[in-house]
Amino acid sequence: MSLLSDLVNLDLSGSTEKIIAEYIWIGGSGVDIRSKARTLPGPVSDPSELPKWNYDGSSTKQARGEDSEIIIHPQAIYKDPFRRGNNILVSCSYLYLQVMCDAYNPQGDPILTNKRHNAAKIFSHSDVIAEEPWFGIEQEYTLLQKDVKWPIGWPIGGYPGPQGPYYCGTGADKAFGRDIVDAHYKACLYAGINISGTNGEVMPGQWEFQVGPSVGISAGDQVWVARYILERITEIAGVVLSFDPKPVHGDWNGAGAHTNYSTKSMRSDGGFDVIRKAIGKLEKRHKEHMAAYGEGNERRLTGKHETADINNFNWGVADRGASVRVGRETEKANKGYFEDRRPSSNMDPYVVTSMIAETTIIWQP
Ligand code: ADP
Ligand code: MN
Ligand code: MN
Ligand code: MN
Repeated sequence: MSLLSDLVNLDLSGSTEKIIAEYIWIGGSGVDIRSKARTLPGPVSDPSELPKWNYDGSSTKQARGEDSEIIIHPQAIYKDPFRRGNNILVSCSYLYLQVMCDAYNPQGDPILTNKRHNAAKIFSHSDVIAEEPWFGIEQEYTLLQKDVKWPIGWPIGGYPGPQGPYYCGTGADKAFGRDIVDAHYKACLYAGINISGTNGEVMPGQWEFQVGPSVGISAGDQVWVARYILERITEIAGVVLSFDPKPVHGDWNGAGAHTNYSTKSMRSDGGFDVIRKAIGKLEKRHKEHMAAYGEGNERRLTGKHETADINNFNWGVADRGASVRVGRETEKANKGYFEDRRPSSNMDPYVVTSMIAETTIIWQP
């Protein structure tokens, strides 16, 4: 055992009633995850028992120095896989964000940019609740060597052999970082995240985990906490986590976050008809969705490497070059779910899930 693994495994949680709560929130770039810890007098089972807290928004590019306090509201609790015992991870939302520049509108009010807040509004709409929207998110990511920011397993300054053997591959020359992937998988299960699987990806050093099916806003909560846990594990491993949609330019696959989706009526007999209608609505709002599906997604959605061109919307059964894919199973059963293949790996799951629900359930063309 190394000193590091001894420290990581230090578990003294049986020695006191007090617990440690790690409050987690999203920083100013919209993809950076921040957290800080506090002591609480005893075990907690519901977020409503937790105190609100605050942080210095001027240090996360979310506020000006002279009015920097941002209040965070506990939303969901997970068991802490690092500290274990009764210790917890707490995912939070803020009442509002004061964005770095143009922080105030002319009336002096803070600008509302809190993505979870808006998503929760959509998911509390009575039509949306009645449809019980399920989401299965396939989160792809790339592991980079810390000092050179080049994928792990790749020769520094050079390239591995062409893609082909790496997807779901096995062996020291094909799978790079499996220990990290597996530690993350177990840690998510421990934490109470509805993680449904993992696999090695087409580009070496790239991996995927899936969350779901999860209902409504909980999909976004779970993806964010799963991302947080992954970044903590890569931190221990001394590897850098990247959600860049196209981490290496050229003939290498990008990284996406395919979002699988169904409603109660899609899952019921004859639901394929409902799916077709929903896809028709997504097509009409293609531009709006593309604007919200992740920074730099245009570098990924080229029409090559199992993607559709960002400027066109198309769908098909079993078509991995489509914007939206319907599975063979769904076609055969005439009910089921579909896959929106457009979101990039760095998308905000609150934005993507709520937008899909809004377009397909609430919006009328
Ligand atoms: P792919 O074949 O595209 O690689 P994956 O197996 O990686 O698909 O991911 C499929 C995801 O879809 C999983 O997260 C799974 O939980 C989710 N899923 C399965 N059934 C449904 C459904 N009815 N509605 C929404 N998501 C679903
Ligand atoms: Mn997948
Ligand atoms: Mn994949
Ligand atoms: Mn997929």
